[in-house]
Amino acid sequence: MAFTNGIPLSDKESVKFFIASSFVETILQAASACPDKEICGLLIGKANSVTEIRPMENKAAHPERFFEMEEADLIRSHREARERGLKVIGHYHSHPSGNCRPSHWDAALAHDGQYWLIAASNKIEGWYAGKNGVVEGIFHPCRLVVE
Ligand SMILES: [Zn+2]
Repeated sequence: MAFTNGIPLSDKESVKFFIASSFVETILQAASACPDKEICGLLIGKANSVTEIRPMENKAAHPERFFEMEEADLIRSHREARERGLKVIGHYHSHPSGNCRPSHWDAALAHDGQYWLIAASNKIEGWYAGKNGVVEGIFHPCRLVVE
């Protein structure tokens, strides 16, 4: 048994997600520089591996508890990634509450097949959205491979 995000998982069950340590540091720094608001951004890459991160502005009316990205920015980011043979494979955001677990509100925004990174308390955890997730019925904990 391996433990990921505090949830016991077998090797077979665990979803791996690869990210460079420099990206993790950038996200954690952005989150700690902005402790009262959720920060957010896109994860761009191929399959289950991040090759770029793209910080986005949090447009939510209550950014201390929610995040929301501008639709036009999202569409442009998806198109630019596609033009370079990449994909928006997910996104990251922070939780000023200090807990890396996806919220009920996060579940409402989740689409199957997307990776989520949540930063809180100088930690980062990875989640994969899909059927029968153990958190909120949609999030599966990822085994984050930081390279
Ligand atoms: Zn959240």
